[in-house]
Amino acid sequence: MTKTAPRKPIIGITVSRNYDSRQLWLPYAYSRRIEEAGALPLLIPPMDPAAAVSLAGSLHGLLLSGGGDVSPFYYGEEPQPGLDEVDAQRDAWEFALVRAAIPGELPLLGICRGLQILNVILGGTLIQDLSGPDFLQHRQKAPRSHPSHTVEIHRHTRLAHILGAGHLAVNSFHHQAPAVVATGLKKTATAPDGVIEALEDGEHRFLLGVQWHPESLHHPASTFLFRAFVNAAAAVL
Ligand code: MN
Repeated sequence: MTKTAPRKPIIGITVSRNYDSRQLWLPYAYSRRIEEAGALPLLIPPMDPAAAVSLAGSLHGLLLSGGGDVSPFYYGEEPQPGLDEVDAQRDAWEFALVRAAIPGELPLLGICRGLQILNVILGGTLIQDLSGPDFLQHRQKAPRSHPSHTVEIHRHTRLAHILGAGHLAVNSFHHQAPAVVATGLKKTATAPDGVIEALEDGEHRFLLGVQWHPESLHHPASTFLFRAFVNAAAAVL
């Protein structure tokens, strides 16, 4: 009998493109965290949306990474002055990929932009720009590994089950956030200014998004989150 290594789940991770679309990039921390949690990270560039069903069928989980703004056309708005760079091809690809992933309940984790695009794909809208006196500073000036504001994790949610309910200090590198929450999603963490910092679908096997960057935050909660995601992916092996 030959000994075979135990199979590991394959987690697709979407990536960004630079402004002239000549290079792809992803902070290494995303793939390291997935690897440390026991899965194989597979980086996914924007592709022809027609490939989405085939690709989704080859994965055991999908991590939607951070990046630029989602085009407001996708939620029925015109661009406002605070909107940053958008990548229409990346948006179209991630829309197709998530739509292909949902019927089979592929475990999905959205981080920052990933949370935002999940909300938009499922029918929600975004605040285009959080700058101004109504909001905390969500674009922190401190290093990525430093927490900069708190969030309250709401009880009786999957997120609270994984991280514990109550206050958690998180990092913050976003200037957009969910406005109208998509039907089927619920708010699971909120910043002190009311900004939505996490969403989930309680009926899905694992569909969850956070506005902060756990891949860069050295806190046990980050490890718990990636482990929970990888465990959900391992269950569909
Ligand atoms: Mn924030």
